[in-house]
Amino acid sequence: MCYKHAGFIFWYISSLVRDLEHNVNHLPLWLIKMRFIFILHFRARPAVQTRTYWKAPIIWEGMFDPNLYDQKHIEGQSSVALTVFAVGRYLDAYLNTFLTSAEQHFMLGLRVTYYVFTDLPDKVPKIQLAPQRSLKVIQVLKQSNWQDISMMRMKSISDTIESEIRDRCDYVFCFDVDQEFKGRFGSEALGESVALLHAHFYKLPKERFTYDRNPKSKAFMETGDFYYHAAIFGGLLENVKNLTDSCYLNIMEDKTNGVEALWHDESHLNKYFWSYKPSRLLSPEYCWDQTIGDVRDINVTRLIWAPKDYETLRTK
Ligand code: UDP
Ligand code: MN
Repeated sequence: MCYKHAGFIFWYISSLVRDLEHNVNHLPLWLIKMRFIFILHFRARPAVQTRTYWKAPIIWEGMFDPNLYDQKHIEGQSSVALTVFAVGRYLDAYLNTFLTSAEQHFMLGLRVTYYVFTDLPDKVPKIQLAPQRSLKVIQVLKQSNWQDISMMRMKSISDTIESEIRDRCDYVFCFDVDQEFKGRFGSEALGESVALLHAHFYKLPKERFTYDRNPKSKAFMETGDFYYHAAIFGGLLENVKNLTDSCYLNIMEDKTNGVEALWHDESHLNKYFWSYKPSRLLSPEYCWDQTIGDVRDINVTRLIWAPKDYETLRTK
């Protein structure tokens, strides 16, 4: 069967199922789940991998109809918490651009709550938010070095899920602040457990992945599936709680043993997703570094890395 026919049959079945949903109030769960499978077009991007060996989709532009996803999540009243940390000089450098661009592109049409973690609550910019969107500032202590600022996010997110987010949001998505939304970052990215393919590694062979190789660290990995980027991870609230708790415990155990994983929280995140496979992967279109020359696979940039200026911005 050629692609054209497969594509037609795929759209035909998904429209049938969609019509069914309009007409029938109580569809069986398996049919609803099937529909989500149907509305991903795995052959839309032949040049890239669109599914893992454990059958999780890898989301690339062209694989989904954004309207179908939005409609489903708006009908289901999905709500999303976005967590972002802006500690020390990162606040002035990045937060305003991050938040204003998120208002243009992140989960439009859904209920979104931003949780901004900072040591400088008074300096959080006052952003004009669209209806159904709100922002909460959470004060955190400034850790003494940037590695700890990055790693201790796991603990703060876990605590805040318990104290604030639980019962208010279905999904939690955790972002680095040094990035800017440039295109739709929508409901197709929502899933039970979501990981991001690192822009610099998605094309490289496994042997080149920079996992932690120190057997003394809890993040130690001999091999893995992909190299995930800690700049974005998310999923259903309960799964993100489990992830952040697990990474935090392992970070603390490493501290007790006097070791630190090669890439800090990112190494622990990679270890976590090796044991607990993510149900949905985001392609590097969802977090692209524009200094990479080869853009053949990148049909849209939804979020880009902001320029990094470690020397002047990071807490030493
Ligand atoms: N971060 C921060 N202040 C710091 C260092 C880090 O707020 O002094 C937060 C911020 O959200 C940042 C994230 O921790 O995006 C991860 O650090 P960074 O972006 O420097 O790591 P990289 O992108 O180089 O892995
Ligand atoms: Mn970053």
